[in-house]
Amino acid sequence: MITRFAPSPTGHLHLGHALAATVAYETARTLGGHMLLRMEDIDASRVREEYYDAIEEDLHWLGIDWQGTPVRQLERMPVYHQALAHLQEMDLVYPCFCTRKELQAMTTAPQQGDDAEAALYPGICRALSRNEREAKMCERPGYAWRLDVHKASKLLGDASFLDLRHGEIRIDANMLGDVVLARKDIGIAYHLAVVIDDAAQNITHVTRGDDLLSSTHVHVLLQHLLGLPQPLYLHHELVCDDQGKRLAKRYDALSLRSMREAGLCADQIMERLRPILDRNLSALP
Ligand code: GLU
Repeated sequence: MITRFAPSPTGHLHLGHALAATVAYETARTLGGHMLLRMEDIDASRVREEYYDAIEEDLHWLGIDWQGTPVRQLERMPVYHQALAHLQEMDLVYPCFCTRKELQAMTTAPQQGDDAEAALYPGICRALSRNEREAKMCERPGYAWRLDVHKASKLLGDASFLDLRHGEIRIDANMLGDVVLARKDIGIAYHLAVVIDDAAQNITHVTRGDDLLSSTHVHVLLQHLLGLPQPLYLHHELVCDDQGKRLAKRYDALSLRSMREAGLCADQIMERLRPILDRNLSALP
């Protein structure tokens, strides 16, 4: 029984991370297993060396421990590229040449249907002919690779995953549309790296926030395509601020570090998180 906590060293940990780390840690303890730490650092342009140490320090301050040396995704790029090559051979991914500006225009233009659907990538580059694709690959310096979800989900058929809080969930492979598996700027993307690492690290229980529940549909699809085992999931509630807005680094959420400097102790953090922890961990068998 193995869980993991997988932060990105692109900033200091905040209360939301403290919750995610504690859910993983307490899940492992409750079920008699252990937790691993994985640094999701593929976006090297946003990563800073000092954050790696700060993450470990903050976790120790909270009383959270993990087994072994933390895995760094940046050191595993060749493994992700191998998986991408496999999907390319299966003809399940296609190069996408759309610029950020074009994508923004597509997804913010008024469209029919509900917002979530409207925001999905409309598949412009999926429709390119082989000749058009080859010509663009020569003339453009960089491009992303997207999963052809329609084609891929035909190989999957009906599938589901088990979430300990939400129950059995049937896969809607198109939940996020043709997701990017390899980013133009950094060569690989979160969805691909995470499923490969969860399998490589023998993760049996993936615990993470409800914000990633929709991603799990894609992850299960990728697990099938790449022949990887499917873990159990526990997606937990998110910590919200007083206005009910989700805490995240981009909202300048208060870091654990600054709370500590302001004189708070780890017990006080845990006290604040305890009601959410109790509600969410009661799902464990
Ligand atoms: N690295 C992700 C984050 O910091 C977590 C990914 C996961 O748990 O699957 O939000």
